[in-house]
Amino acid sequence: MKYRRFGKTELRLPILTFGAMQVPVPEDENKAAETTRCAIQAGINHIETAQGYGTSEERLGRILKDYRREDLIITTKIGPVATRDEMWKRIETSLNRLQMTSIENLDIHGINTYAGLELTLRKGGCMEAVREAIDQKVVGHIGFSGHASCEVILATLNTGEFESVNLHYYYFFQRNLPAIRRAAELDMGILIISPSDKGGLLYRPPDKLKELAAPFTPIELNHRWLLNQPEITTLTVGCTYASEWEDHLLVGDRDGLLTPEEMAALKRWNEQYKTLGDSYCSVCGDCLPCPEKIHIPEVLRLRNLTRGFDMLEYGQYRYKMFENAGDWYPGRRASNCTECGDCLPRCPLHLEIPKLLSETHDLLWEGVDGQRRWA
Ligand code: SF4
Ligand code: SF4
Repeated sequence: MKYRRFGKTELRLPILTFGAMQVPVPEDENKAAETTRCAIQAGINHIETAQGYGTSEERLGRILKDYRREDLIITTKIGPVATRDEMWKRIETSLNRLQMTSIENLDIHGINTYAGLELTLRKGGCMEAVREAIDQKVVGHIGFSGHASCEVILATLNTGEFESVNLHYYYFFQRNLPAIRRAAELDMGILIISPSDKGGLLYRPPDKLKELAAPFTPIELNHRWLLNQPEITTLTVGCTYASEWEDHLLVGDRDGLLTPEEMAALKRWNEQYKTLGDSYCSVCGDCLPCPEKIHIPEVLRLRNLTRGFDMLEYGQYRYKMFENAGDWYPGRRASNCTECGDCLPRCPLHLEIPKLLSETHDLLWEGVDGQRRWA
């Protein structure tokens, strides 16, 4: 396993992190322990969880007792709260669940709006407890996760309050590139959220995506594309069962520049967008705001992937989160378009946005409510 410096925290993290959101899933706790053991034996000694991930912290607390604490780097995440005292209670809850007296890294979970940022930074609020916890060596470092607009992530980065950021950024979703660049300028650690799931359901890829990636797997190619960017510290991988590690571990020791074969495969992915012809959306965002609060670029990104790469299951998975995940996945479903035309003059590609939105809704909406999955 290769390791990278986690920005100004000076921690050395493996380029793959074990994201423990799925740790509560196997009924048999031994299965979760096996998944964890497989990660740690491969050198993945950074384990990332959250207070909101069901019984993840408790299970980890039991499982990790079998390992030397000094060999592990633990991150947990706690959502913004209004008061110092409440934050202290939450920190203590996480430590009790994890059966630990300290953790190396704490993230404020989900600073997704300006209101969330204001709540986080409020005088006498949660950052006061975090600073005290750092002074008392209960917490090593402070970061945050941002799941919504790049603007809010940039505003949070620019406060200078945090040492690392946890965000969405993948080959198939590059809107947060400005945040990656800014975090690197600020010498912050950068952790990529769930590249195989949120980045395209790449562990269940359609044939077209597999063929275009061959001889690499889509997981492998996306990981390599990410890790070719030196600003990125680590990719969080949320395996449920030990057997799922195989594809991910293909890149654990490959930290170098992209090979000609990898570049050729990525070029095939890039070229595939051309098959969309003049219905391709560059996801630039210039068409916003929409008075009906439709997240036009995100809807049309899902259309690009469904039409261009046969990523229907991923498109449906993300589309059903509109109106179901609050600030974690903002925007209303495309069926709310009134054809008012406000967005049309703003689109540099002159796309017929209402028509494409209607088509995408018909393509992706399954008529069932989506379940919030921490976006
Ligand atoms: S035409 Fe539809 S998508 Fe465009 S701004 Fe109006 S309601 Fe929004
Ligand atoms: S302005 Fe046009 S190209 Fe840009 S995100 Fe909106 S629809 Fe897509």
